[in-house]
Amino acid sequence: MHQTALIVEDDPATRHVLSSSLATAGIKSLFAGSAAAMWALMGEDPDVVILDLGLPDADGFDLLRRLREQSDVPVLIHSTRSAEIERIVGIEIGADDFLAKPCNMRELVARVSSLLRRAQGRASQSRARPCGMLSFGDWRLDPATRTLIGRDGQPAALGVSAYALLSCFLDKPFQPLSREVLSRALKREYTPYDRIIDVHVSQIRRLLGKQADGSAYIKTLRSQGYVFTTTVEQLETPT
Ligand code: CA
Repeated sequence: MHQTALIVEDDPATRHVLSSSLATAGIKSLFAGSAAAMWALMGEDPDVVILDLGLPDADGFDLLRRLREQSDVPVLIHSTRSAEIERIVGIEIGADDFLAKPCNMRELVARVSSLLRRAQGRASQSRARPCGMLSFGDWRLDPATRTLIGRDGQPAALGVSAYALLSCFLDKPFQPLSREVLSRALKREYTPYDRIIDVHVSQIRRLLGKQADGSAYIKTLRSQGYVFTTTVEQLETPT
């Protein structure tokens, strides 16, 4: 079955290069040259979105924020705005990955494929464990709907990457997890200077807030990675 990437990009030449590269990996492309066109094509249910931040009719970050209110489709930002701060902002408002323009097309295809595998893994995992609600601290995670629910019953938005990482922590509470192990949870090749894991972890931390005793749910272990420091309970399935 073909998977489909929605390429949101106002430069026709870039669109062409992206779509022909994705085609080599069997990924079909849809094109949107503007934010308005993107909204029109979201109805086609793309498997991944490749988002240029500089569009004629919208600021890419605003667009991403609004997209996240409605969809958890994996998003890869592909932008000339590639400063560290732009990457961090992009990831914090819900992008799953970031590539600076111009990028190596092989790298782009590898990142897109990795997002697609992750989204698929998440879908099959939720089918395999349809009702295993997990509880920790003030939070519950429902793997069936991939929703994080607060004490007040309000759901909190989790992107594909944040969900994959949080699941990895909840599977192994009190065990140190290296950045390498966490990269594997993202089905991503580990590179020591890649800060994406740290950015996602700080995003999850901010989302979870503090525990009752004022400490963070996820602690940093110097030169080792991270550890989740709360008991995780599997709640009984109501029958
Ligand atoms: Ca542009």
